[in-house]
Amino acid sequence: MVAGAASGARASARTKLVVGNWKMNGSVAANAALLGALKAENFTPVEVSVCVPAPYLRDVAGLLAGSAIAWGGQDCSPHESGAYTGDVSAAMLAELGCRHVIVGHSERRALHGESDGLVAEKARAALEHGLVPIVCVGETLAEREAGATHEVVGRQLRAVIEWLGDRIDRIVVAYEPVWAIGTGKTASPGEAQSVHAFLRGALGAAGAALRLLYGGSVKADNATQLFTEPDIDGGLIGGASLKAADFIAICRAAR
Ligand code: PEP
Repeated sequence: MVAGAASGARASARTKLVVGNWKMNGSVAANAALLGALKAENFTPVEVSVCVPAPYLRDVAGLLAGSAIAWGGQDCSPHESGAYTGDVSAAMLAELGCRHVIVGHSERRALHGESDGLVAEKARAALEHGLVPIVCVGETLAEREAGATHEVVGRQLRAVIEWLGDRIDRIVVAYEPVWAIGTGKTASPGEAQSVHAFLRGALGAAGAALRLLYGGSVKADNATQLFTEPDIDGGLIGGASLKAADFIAICRAAR
């Protein structure tokens, strides 16, 4: 499919989604204060979710129950259960009411050696338990400078498409250039849009309805410009999701 065919006119059919990735941050008290502030807002029609460290999920589920804000995990095992010390299964996340789970975040690819194939298996495990996997793809600075951005994100996405087949329309994709994560460097709206259009094209027929998030140093002051690009359907927000005022401003920017 030609990327442009999926963008533009059909973009309005996709509900904007903003997801906070707390990474390994938070405390019982800080989480309650942050979520209290988020719950006081009405982000309609934007869908908002927070992906939190596993030990906080039960608390977060209690704090957000009955609100419009969803919650999720930051990773899941491809396995059902068993001798996988330290891992968290998709079934466990589902039992705690998670809607989303991030898979293939660049920090896990780099620090835990996760391959494209493993990320795809995690996405499949998530779907099998009714979770929406947020599949992260993105190139390093060296890969961008070598002109390999499309090759890298295309390869990462293809592994997931091959594993999921026609269930591919049930995922969310987050384009997160590695060089922009936590660095304060953001892809320009044009740079991000161009990769999003490429990804939408690579998704084939499923691409038109599927949501593509941008992540990488999104802040209140650059969110509006990014979110108005036709193929950017919201954001995956790291550092700025830990500060209520910043995250609220970003969620509002998606309206
Ligand atoms: C992330 O960790 O997914 C992320 C986008 O981080 P940051 O917003 O801090 O760059």
